[in-house]
Amino acid sequence: MSSRRHTDIALIDEQGPLPRRTLRAAVTDRAAELAALGLRPGDRAVLCRPNGRRWITDYLALAELGAVGVPLNAASAPDELWHAATDSGAALVLTAEGPGPPPPPPDSGPPPRSPATEDTVDLTDISTIAYTSGTTGRPKGALQTRRAVRLGGENIARRLALDPGDTVLSPLPLAHTYGTNVLNAALSAGSALVLLTRFTEEAMAEALRRHRPTVLAGVPTMYRRLLACPGLPLESLRCSLSAGQPAGEPLARAWQERSGAVFAEGWGMTELAGLASLTSADDPGHPGTAGPPVPGAGVRTGADGELLVRGPFVTPGYLGSPEATARVLTPGGELRTGDVGRVADDGGVTVLDRLKDVILCGGYTVYPAEVERVISSHPSVAAVAVTAMPDAVRGEAPQAWIATAGGGAADEAAILAHCRAHLAPYKIPRRTTFLPELPTTAGGKVARGRLPR
Ligand code: ATP
Ligand code: MG
Repeated sequence: MSSRRHTDIALIDEQGPLPRRTLRAAVTDRAAELAALGLRPGDRAVLCRPNGRRWITDYLALAELGAVGVPLNAASAPDELWHAATDSGAALVLTAEGPGPPPPPPDSGPPPRSPATEDTVDLTDISTIAYTSGTTGRPKGALQTRRAVRLGGENIARRLALDPGDTVLSPLPLAHTYGTNVLNAALSAGSALVLLTRFTEEAMAEALRRHRPTVLAGVPTMYRRLLACPGLPLESLRCSLSAGQPAGEPLARAWQERSGAVFAEGWGMTELAGLASLTSADDPGHPGTAGPPVPGAGVRTGADGELLVRGPFVTPGYLGSPEATARVLTPGGELRTGDVGRVADDGGVTVLDRLKDVILCGGYTVYPAEVERVISSHPSVAAVAVTAMPDAVRGEAPQAWIATAGGGAADEAAILAHCRAHLAPYKIPRRTTFLPELPTTAGGKVARGRLPR
């Protein structure tokens, strides 16, 4: 049951509630301040702050000025900050310490180079340069148009039927496109956004109790962790949004059962400034699938089962990298997503895995995501990644990298028995390596490119 209240509150963050008109006034003041610092339309500004009202005020002020925001995770290292500032040719860096010029290069940094943007792309229509998560390698700066960013918020608002009576709880980093989407969805619908600085079970339980949200936004890992918490007050929820990683049917069903709320899965990426497909709150569809394409989007499968997306939100390209851009944009203007999946007759999208992660094992196709889901459902496992290892007979075979919960003892035999109970023999990892922890991206995905060779 939802606890619906119409309020004029735009945001509830660590500092408490922020009325809509106070936010608007703060944005106007901030835009004037930034203009006085010399920021002009088309100028880039790195935005590197923790989740909260200051982030949102800066973000909206940049938009008001026609400047280009370069959101960066607040936990970024100095090298990363320097890279983003020079890569984007930033005029200004906005951090918790206050606005200032781009930082000096770290001792170890590469020599500065002139921003490649100037001669190659027209930035007048660009809202943000958003770095991808870096799951497969170094993060790429994807250009997001103002229209794409607006649609990213509106599509979520529409599919989830958000209105001013809703309260949306999000622990997602604003600097990640998914987090920004949820912010823009709440702003466009007039819903209140309860924003956490970061996800912890305790902070979520407290926010659920205090604010009675109607909608929850998160990633599968978050829902998995919350399922392990007894006694969460979930009665107010009507809908839970999940994106960023495949959730899988068992998790979708388990969370739906536990919360009584629709589990709305979306599939998106930085290059689309939002979600390409999303389950509708009034038509839950099939748990474990990512719903039909959002309005204006076309999704089809190309060679090797790769999902191709067209729509008004497809990125014009990566910052200063025409080669990388040419690799992902087809001549017809579709985005090669790098994900493999299926599109059902009724248009519903199922994402199986990333094309480059698929394991070809003696004539069988193994999707690491499926094996990872099974292994991660074993109680002793904290994190897992499944990759391809060379196999003399089969060409490739699955290999598992596992971090155990609480750094506890690794029971390989129990985990493999669990796999055998749930997976066909060719999907069982041939080798299992236990690590103290797995490398992760700022958004909490396993950084596959940084696993030991
Ligand atoms: P990088 O491009 O730097 O390697 P990344 O692809 O993880 O990192 P993002 O743009 O944050 O960076 O994430 C988009 C990717 O996340 C998609 O291409 C897809 O692989 C995955 N993804 C997002 N939502 C879903 C979903 N519902 N099901 C399966 N995969 C998803
Ligand atoms: Mg990607």
